[in-house]
Amino acid sequence: MYAAKGAGTNRFAVYTADMHVHALARLDGREQLERAIEKEELVLHYQPIVDLDLGRVAGFEALVRWQHPTRGLLGPGEFIPLAEETGLIVPLGRWVLREACRTATAWAGAPYLSVNVASAQLEQEGFVEEVACALRDASLVSSRLVLEVTESSLVGEDSAERLQALRKLGIRLAIDDFGTGYSSLSYLRRFPMDVLKIDRSFTQEACEDGALLQAIVAMGESLGLVLVPEGIESEEQADELRALGCRLGQGFLFGRPVPASELTGVATRSAVSL
Ligand code: C2E
Ligand code: MG
Ligand code: MG
Ligand code: MG
Repeated sequence: MYAAKGAGTNRFAVYTADMHVHALARLDGREQLERAIEKEELVLHYQPIVDLDLGRVAGFEALVRWQHPTRGLLGPGEFIPLAEETGLIVPLGRWVLREACRTATAWAGAPYLSVNVASAQLEQEGFVEEVACALRDASLVSSRLVLEVTESSLVGEDSAERLQALRKLGIRLAIDDFGTGYSSLSYLRRFPMDVLKIDRSFTQEACEDGALLQAIVAMGESLGLVLVPEGIESEEQADELRALGCRLGQGFLFGRPVPASELTGVATRSAVSL
């Protein structure tokens, strides 16, 4: 009896100590991230999206990083989950959008700018106005902006209305990581999208049997969407995807995400339209 109780108490003690450490780490991370947004420790890298036939740039996707004061440059996988959990994704996303628009205005050749938008941002009442404001302040025409949303963003009624409103402003919409969510088909018919970004896990099938990839391509084509397979790493994959009918593509084969300062005029100048 005593032993059992003792053991139970011990287990409990260990568990709470562990939880406590976790909670503290999370609180600490939250405060650090909050400060990072205020102090502009976030940086954007840009990865080219190319025309597979012409080999020319069509656009760039903005991808956020955190220049952490002690831990170095952190990728989004290390802080986006915390940002989403704490709601900080809203101010973070706002910063990303404004910064990316300001940067893209200066690009010669006017390639399009693709920006990731989290579901929580779309759920904000003032989101449409915020986007319009970011474009206006940066003097960027709406037709150069593509907002990337995930399948889960298509579920909420209000979010859906906002997507329609954004599209009326001339902004284009991309569905990101397609094939990894679970809303897919019926939602795609209900919401007018422009671009379908095929998740890297399907792109990798390109040189194998690729049954799912072919099905996604066929569906995207029948809906009139521009197909953008992500994560292209080899010439063979690029060839297969081009043969399948994908017009654009993105991946390390064409370029890794780099700071705006490393994008040369040559890279942006010969842009083809979306
Ligand atoms: P994503 O939007 O699907 O972005 C593509 C990711 O794939 C990027 O990772 C990019 O570096 C990586 N990638 C591109 N080509 C290749 C390739 O050939 N091979 C491999 N292995 N990877 C490739 P990154 O930059 O680490 O971003 C990861 C995710 O974080 C993004 O996936 C996006 O979901 C999220 N994210 C990034 N920036 C933002 C942002 O500003 N806001 C929000 N809400 N999410 C963001
Ligand atoms: Mg994306
Ligand atoms: Mg993606
Ligand atoms: Mg992805």
